[in-house]
Amino acid sequence: MVIRFGRLKKNNMHKSTFFLMKPDGNSIGKAKELNLDSVFASHKNLDEIVIKTLRENLKSGIEINAEVGVFAGKDLWDKFPDVIPVEAGGKEPARGWYYGVCPSHEGVRNECLQNVKALLERDLNGIWLDFIRYPTKWEEPEPYILDVCYCDRCLKKFSEYLGEPIEGNTLEDKVLLIDGSYYIEWIEFKTEMITSMVREVRKLIDDHNRNVQNDKKVKLGFFAIPWQDKEHSAGIKRIVAQDFGALSTLVDIYSPMLYHKMCGKEVSWIKEMVNYFWEVGKPQLPLIQTEPRESEIKVDEFKQALDFAGASPSTGVCVFFLEDLMKQPEKFDTVKEYFK
Ligand SMILES: [Zn+2]
Repeated sequence: MVIRFGRLKKNNMHKSTFFLMKPDGNSIGKAKELNLDSVFASHKNLDEIVIKTLRENLKSGIEINAEVGVFAGKDLWDKFPDVIPVEAGGKEPARGWYYGVCPSHEGVRNECLQNVKALLERDLNGIWLDFIRYPTKWEEPEPYILDVCYCDRCLKKFSEYLGEPIEGNTLEDKVLLIDGSYYIEWIEFKTEMITSMVREVRKLIDDHNRNVQNDKKVKLGFFAIPWQDKEHSAGIKRIVAQDFGALSTLVDIYSPMLYHKMCGKEVSWIKEMVNYFWEVGKPQLPLIQTEPRESEIKVDEFKQALDFAGASPSTGVCVFFLEDLMKQPEKFDTVKEYFK
């Protein structure tokens, strides 16, 4: 008997997709065809009725994971006007659909914790933090990089962190002082602003998990920006403040968003990034894109993306996103065949 290695690998692979919209009869029906191990949807779209419908229709033991967006959203801009980030050079902080939010805002941080508490009351398997970072629009070939946040609140908190005043008459003076004299401290302050948010969520999840049976324990994941250390002048820490070393001690699983076309990369970049994230030392479930953004993805290339994202050392692949995949029958059938 010939054992085909590729086949074995695929059987062990975790198969997942993301509902961008609220799951309905149509999308759940299509999801059912894919033999999935897990599904993701925004926590806003996962009420108890939807969760129950997913459990009734998808395969037994399906994992249902809620995505919780933290530091982004037009709704937060409208609700708390002082969340709008202040950029060092006065650059416009919003871009297209993206509205980044200042991570030091107590109202926003509290809202994240309240959302997580409410989700822990529901029949879910995982909570994945999204937009858990400083504002910047990275999903394009030349990222729209923002040097944030220099709002009065952030400057006050940073001054407390340092134990020294941030002197200067203008914002420009203060930015220059920070950049010149407190470069390392500023990066530490920013990364801790993000890491501490994850730590608080971890605590809520640990408290929950201590009191439930094993099959009701909730996993904590997060959506990682696919930047290597060396890129954008150490931008992963300096700009967006995702400290993979610190975060790896707090989360159970990493989900790097390996949207190669959006990032203007070749499909082989997915393989490179899966290997890169292996060094973080945590299980990873990467996402790949279905949409023709920034350019068309041919079916063969899409198949390669599945192969690269789902192969070891990755634990599987999450196809982002289901409703778009449904519009592309050839790609849908590719995933169906691949996930068999
Ligand atoms: Zn701020």
